[in-house]
Amino acid sequence: MPPDLVVIHCTELPDLASAREFGEKVLYPSGTGNSGHYYIDRDGSLHQYVGLERVAHHVRGYNGRAIGIELVNAGRYPNWLAAAGQQMSEPYADAQIGTLVALLQWLQVQLPSLRYIEGHEQLDTTQVPAEDDATTLVQRKLDPGPLFPWPRVLQDIALRRLSTTAATP
Ligand SMILES: [Zn+2]
Repeated sequence: MPPDLVVIHCTELPDLASAREFGEKVLYPSGTGNSGHYYIDRDGSLHQYVGLERVAHHVRGYNGRAIGIELVNAGRYPNWLAAAGQQMSEPYADAQIGTLVALLQWLQVQLPSLRYIEGHEQLDTTQVPAEDDATTLVQRKLDPGPLFPWPRVLQDIALRRLSTTAATP
């Protein structure tokens, strides 16, 4: 189906090079791995890893309808699943958000089927036992996290959030 959804991620890795290395790991028999279509570095530079005509593996259950955009941000690195490591303290850079908005506006023109935008954390709410404390559950996915500036991004695009759309038809 033509994509109707954009999913916002952050890499939860220190830099673009480590994100690229992770994205190129082969994890599936089809010869593919986990990667977004686009990566945006802290300086606002834009990198395309997967063509828009291809399905990328970046979000459980929604890949067939979704374009994935990864923002380079440390997130919970390196204690992703530790109970004591759940704070995401790196702000998103202005240049990075500027590029994201421009990319979203361009994508709306390229792919008129697009309607929705959502964060990975809203689409995969799986909880798992923390690595350092099995009695505590942590979110498997927490990106892009509380520091992602949703109001700033939404004011300049025509896409609506999928989760709020579902709640208020
Ligand atoms: Zn993600």
